[in-house]
Amino acid sequence: MSTATPSISPVLAPVAGGPFDTLRARLAGHLITAGDAGYDEARQTLYATRRPLAVVRAANARDVAAAVTFARDRDLPLAVRSGGHSLAAYSVVDDAVVVDLSRMKRVRVDPQTRIARVQAGATSGDLAGPAHEHDLALSTGDTASVGMGGLTTGGGIGFMVRKHGLAIDSLLSAQVVTADGAIVTASETEHPDLFWAIRGGGGNVGIVTEFTYRLAPVGRVLAGMLLLPASRAVLRGYLDLAAAAPDDLTTIANLQFAPPAPFVPADRVGEPVLAIIVCWTGTVADGDRALAPLRALATPVADTIAEIPYPKIYAYTDHQAAPHGAAIRSMFADDLSDAALDAALAALRDATSPYSLIQFRALGGAMARVSPDATAFAHRERRFFLAIIAIWLDAAEDAAPHAAWTNALWQTVRPEGAGVYVNFLEREGPDRVRNAYPPVTYARLAEIKRRYDPGNLFRFNQNVPPRP
Ligand SMILES: Cc1cc2nc3c(=O)[nH]c(=O)nc-3n(C[C@H](O)[C@H](O)[C@H](O)COP(=O)(O)OP(=O)(O)OC[C@H]3O[C@@H](n4cnc5c(N)ncnc54)[C@H](O)[C@@H]3O)c2cc1C
Repeated sequence: MSTATPSISPVLAPVAGGPFDTLRARLAGHLITAGDAGYDEARQTLYATRRPLAVVRAANARDVAAAVTFARDRDLPLAVRSGGHSLAAYSVVDDAVVVDLSRMKRVRVDPQTRIARVQAGATSGDLAGPAHEHDLALSTGDTASVGMGGLTTGGGIGFMVRKHGLAIDSLLSAQVVTADGAIVTASETEHPDLFWAIRGGGGNVGIVTEFTYRLAPVGRVLAGMLLLPASRAVLRGYLDLAAAAPDDLTTIANLQFAPPAPFVPADRVGEPVLAIIVCWTGTVADGDRALAPLRALATPVADTIAEIPYPKIYAYTDHQAAPHGAAIRSMFADDLSDAALDAALAALRDATSPYSLIQFRALGGAMARVSPDATAFAHRERRFFLAIIAIWLDAAEDAAPHAAWTNALWQTVRPEGAGVYVNFLEREGPDRVRNAYPPVTYARLAEIKRRYDPGNLFRFNQNVPPRP
């Protein structure tokens, strides 16, 4: 395999060839540079295609450590990729060395202890199947293809967040490669500061190679989609009911156009709806009782809620794994005014794409019972999450009108926001990164960053620079 190919830019040529061969020889995994087979696949993520200098497709933590040391010693930009779903497209970067964990997908579940050891390149879906074999589950995110690496280091707001908390709330320990190339274990007792920082610090302090989680006893759930006609009364009713519901009920509600799904009557396709994905973890009888007020908000357009194996819930979001264009702004909120709901309803009518949506999630429950200073994810008391998501299928399409649509609604609702979720930030500047953390949390994160990554090697992320 050749490394120094004519397609590598002359500026970068000095580090190609010899040094790369040295690194390649040390790896159990693969090193891919421009011109190698697989380069085009390796440089693609869900939202972007870049031209990295090299992709180190790691096979184990030692490979990750070797790549970190290689990049640091040569002062090369370093990016980190697990599932490749970064909304900010930070995980593959032009002219960078990419540490790619996407082949590190091993999942081991011990049904006796309910402990799962999950390599960081595994996805939510990779974990959900093996866990379900033992009637166990972890609350991760809403989409099977999202990587555990990025999801967990940001927090992880999933289908059971109100019952079982964030993904990080089930994290017992992690194996982490730090900027000095060391492979360490982070837990409440070993490197506790690092453990605090990887739970919400968004990859600022190290590269996690393996997570150890305690799974929850969840086998079948009462779940599905409830489609209600979109109106302010329905939206308000949803927000009130979902936030006050028992912890067993977690919901994700998208204000969108009714999709051409088999369960949507043909004459209702394209109608503005609130599409509520429901996940109830208690008994079916209790669930039906808890869901009755939601179902009574309006005559449903469709209602697929039934008892299903937990992993089947991902069927409602599987389409999100295909590359597409997106323009996103998001925020947490404690309340949303009628004016904000009306603005969202009006925005949907004016959407520049039929696939765009405005997402509402009711939070609270177990997520809010963890102290805000326990982890770097600290916006635990926020009642709602809101995301304005313009989606278009052909990523090559001009993004400008869609971004303008997102931005117009965002400008209207953002005064009602209270912080933002680090994993739903695009490239929005340092003030928005600060907004992801209360000041005291940000200061602690910057101090831990100073100790573990003083040179800011891990900077292609929602960056918290080391405290000077
Ligand atoms: C369709 C879709 C649905 C989503 N739904 C949810 C949801 O329901 N709940 C939720 O919480 N989030 C959700 N997200 C956001 C998601 O959590 C983030 O985009 C997350 O960063 C993706 O992780 P990844 O490993 O796939 O991404 P990557 O692009 O591989 O990584 C993103 C960033 O995470 C960091 N990172 C990745 N791996 C590691 C690692 N091993 N160690 C340290 N840092 C690392 C790096 O900074 C990297 O730039 C969704 C995103 C998408 C695109």
